[in-house]
Amino acid sequence: MSSVIIIGGGIIGLCSAYYLHDEGYTVTILDKSDMLDGCSYGNAGYLSPSHFVPLATPGIVKKGFKWMLNSKSPFYVQPRLDATLINWGLKFIKSATAAHSVRSAIPLRDISLLSKKLYEEIAIAPGFDFYYEKKGMIEFFKTEVNAHHAEEMVVQSNKLGLEAMLLSKEQVQELEPDLQMDILGGIYFKCDAHLYPNKLMSDLKNDLMKKGVLIHTQQEVTGFITENDRIKGVRAGQDFFADEVVLAAGALTGEVARKLQLRIPMIGGRGYSVTFDNPPFKVQHPIILTEARVAITPMAGNKVRFGGTMEITSFNTPPKLKRVEGIFESVKKYFPSFDLPIPKDKIWYGYRPCSADGLPYIGRPAKYKNLVVASGHAMLGLSLGAGTGKLVSEIICKKQPSTNISAFDPDRFQ
Ligand SMILES: Cc1cc2nc3c(=O)[nH]c(=O)nc-3n(C[C@H](O)[C@H](O)[C@H](O)COP(=O)(O)OP(=O)(O)OC[C@H]3O[C@@H](n4cnc5c(N)ncnc54)[C@H](O)[C@@H]3O)c2cc1C
Repeated sequence: MSSVIIIGGGIIGLCSAYYLHDEGYTVTILDKSDMLDGCSYGNAGYLSPSHFVPLATPGIVKKGFKWMLNSKSPFYVQPRLDATLINWGLKFIKSATAAHSVRSAIPLRDISLLSKKLYEEIAIAPGFDFYYEKKGMIEFFKTEVNAHHAEEMVVQSNKLGLEAMLLSKEQVQELEPDLQMDILGGIYFKCDAHLYPNKLMSDLKNDLMKKGVLIHTQQEVTGFITENDRIKGVRAGQDFFADEVVLAAGALTGEVARKLQLRIPMIGGRGYSVTFDNPPFKVQHPIILTEARVAITPMAGNKVRFGGTMEITSFNTPPKLKRVEGIFESVKKYFPSFDLPIPKDKIWYGYRPCSADGLPYIGRPAKYKNLVVASGHAMLGLSLGAGTGKLVSEIICKKQPSTNISAFDPDRFQ
């Protein structure tokens, strides 16, 4: 029987393990953490075919420079002299073109729809109960500029076969009867779904362990044993050996790849979330506040999670309360009667693995015959998790991939 080592037990690593085990591989997962609350746990839980525009757009670069001066803004780059950041930033700016957005739409749509279909299958498998809901998602907007942009988005979505409709404020109110809101209107993306990521992660871990997948926590991968174009072994607390290696180390993928002399430009985009149990703020659908870039998700029956901000900073910078204040202050602008206090002891944060062009890296780098890279999904890692896992298994099993993965080539910045 062939064997695989997966570096990283986030959603991408676990989904890869799920499909590789199905294909008969002996799977070992190595993770440096306890695998209890990383980026794949506290996220907003969206499965978003609606997000067919990559992070790297001309608009975000312009706004990024403006927002750099505001510590409560939705997107914040902490200026620092760091070669990895400068290198990533230059590539990001170069990639952020209108043509890149157009080129990325179909690959992103296809992997997203694949992933959603696979989550639907997993949701009804024995041992899984992660509150998968297919209610769509509503994007609220407040400004005329975004009302105009919303019209274009609806047209583009429908052209791509993704069901979306423009809603007046009154129509939004019908869908969200308990909210008192100050908005102009919304887009209802019926194509989207959501789930409770914390439960998905624990269900996946339990399922994999029951099936005999070995999960080693507190095992930081520090090096590799290589021979010509093959990885022979993986160095962590001890040496591990397998036929194939999957690199799914989230925001640290670039750092691990450097030990293999591979250039995978990646930085961590820190985001925060806060989850309330049964709060008086009742929301029926997942909501995105467009101008504020805040996500509000009803989860697991009676929970509501508020998440947002993209803070490009170093991994050892302490979390900043100001970022969470920014989220709460912007929620109040949409819902004037919103008055939930920030529960300071319940602030969660995680680092999104951000590639340099907003598209994930999925595939075999030319340098190694038995390595697959699967990372860089930025704000779409949960959404694209099951699809990515399936594609990883198809690459390793030399099957025709379920979607065209050429846009995700991990060598595109070599
Ligand atoms: C506030 C917020 C909201 C979000 N909302 C959504 C959403 O609604 N929908 C969506 O699709 N996405 C969302 N995301 C993004 C999503 O959470 C991430 O894209 C996703 O979790 C990344 O998964 P991953 O498996 O690549 O990385 P991770 O979950 O970070 O897993 C990587 C793992 O690799 C391990 N690792 C790293 N280095 C090593 C090493 N050297 N040796 C061993 N192990 C190592 C780490 O410990 C970690 O467990 C959100 C993110 C944030 C922060």
